[in-house]
Amino acid sequence: MKTQPWLAPPEAADLGEGFVVVGAGIAGATAARVLAERGVSVQVIDPCAPASKATGNPAAVLRPVLARDTKDPLSLFYTDAFESTRRRIDSLREQGHTIAGGFDGVLHSHPRAQDMRGRAKHEYLDAAKVQARLGPHARSDGVWLNDAGWVSPVDYCNALLDHSNIEVHQAELVSLAFNGLTWRLMAADESVISQADNVVLANGWRLLQIAQTASLPINPVASQLLHYKDAHSKHGPSVPVVGGGTLCPTADGWMLTAGHWHDTTEDTVDMARNPEILERSADLWAVPDCADDADVRAAVRATSRDYLPMVGGVPDFEQARIVYADLQHGRQIHHYPAAPHQGGLYVLGALGGRGITSAQLCAEVLGSVVFGEAHAWQPALHPLRFLARELKRGKTAP
Ligand SMILES: Cc1cc2nc3c(=O)[nH]c(=O)nc-3n(C[C@H](O)[C@H](O)[C@H](O)COP(=O)(O)OP(=O)(O)OC[C@H]3O[C@@H](n4cnc5c(N)ncnc54)[C@H](O)[C@@H]3O)c2cc1C
Repeated sequence: MKTQPWLAPPEAADLGEGFVVVGAGIAGATAARVLAERGVSVQVIDPCAPASKATGNPAAVLRPVLARDTKDPLSLFYTDAFESTRRRIDSLREQGHTIAGGFDGVLHSHPRAQDMRGRAKHEYLDAAKVQARLGPHARSDGVWLNDAGWVSPVDYCNALLDHSNIEVHQAELVSLAFNGLTWRLMAADESVISQADNVVLANGWRLLQIAQTASLPINPVASQLLHYKDAHSKHGPSVPVVGGGTLCPTADGWMLTAGHWHDTTEDTVDMARNPEILERSADLWAVPDCADDADVRAAVRATSRDYLPMVGGVPDFEQARIVYADLQHGRQIHHYPAAPHQGGLYVLGALGGRGITSAQLCAEVLGSVVFGEAHAWQPALHPLRFLARELKRGKTAP
């Protein structure tokens, strides 16, 4: 099927003076690594240490997604994504990197667990079988995902950044200016951080603070975790247990995640605002009553409306509104030009609640876009998809 022109990638990049990647979370680290392995020199900038914002959790679950419909796009995407990430972690470990984590299975508790389908290896376990496998604290039945597991995102991110073509600098981008050839990256005091022909914006929800990506339809969502260590480390599961909440082993104990606050960028969420965190996991696991002893962490991630990431060239939204203004009339697609982009500017973002799982595949898509190669997932992740959908429905707002 012919690709819809509004989902076409930009022309291959003019590699010129290399790349600047903005953000040293998992999005920036995977993007930098994929480009570096293709021979590109990459400068990564971040005001914070790598993997200290959303990527800085003590653990992340890595799993494919099952669905009742085997053609479910989220299931297809996150199954491919899981496989790419697993290959990447295996390869980093073979290269000698120490990355905490394991692929010993994940239990997914779901009301329709018995109806779940997908390409990933899985089996349904009733509650007794789950207890036999995970011990007496387990409370639920569920789908057992054989090859899935967990990872330390901090170890994973730092291993990705450890490449001879990658340099990490401490700097915060405040604005970007294009002179027709190169992008100038400016700091708060208006000094120039760097100049580059190509820039990848991979700065999480703060994409909304950069003029060129401010109109991307992404939403910040805050969530919180409790990290149990020391005397309480023995009460947790040996593998991730996912349902209303998520329980996951860490290198030094285990953690519990639940609760979301939409449209907030506050990452100092108070425990008191989240009584659900324990309630939502009570059906999954006999959690000890010692929340006060746990470390609390909150972080903000960026989500999209269809729960798929945004990857590719940054669209020229103003131009796109003009050239696709009459999309609702259903004219044949060859009447329309290819999606207009801001030359040399790319985005890898909106990784949502599964970004550690999906960033590697997203970076592979980005690498294909930069080098002018086709990638099966490129149209589905195109950052212009939401505006195109709205215009097709005759709406003018993104
Ligand atoms: C509580 C919680 C649990 C999660 N659990 C899982 C899980 O189990 N499995 C899973 O796969 N995913 C999970 N996720 C999702 C995953 O953590 C995120 O999708 C992912 O970390 C987002 O990565 P990122 O690089 O886009 O953002 P971030 O990690 O936030 O990185 C963005 C970086 O950009 C930098 N930055 C921002 N603005 C600028 C600027 N102007 N200039 C320079 N640098 C800038 C920031 O300092 C930051 O380092 C979870 C997320 C949360 C919050």
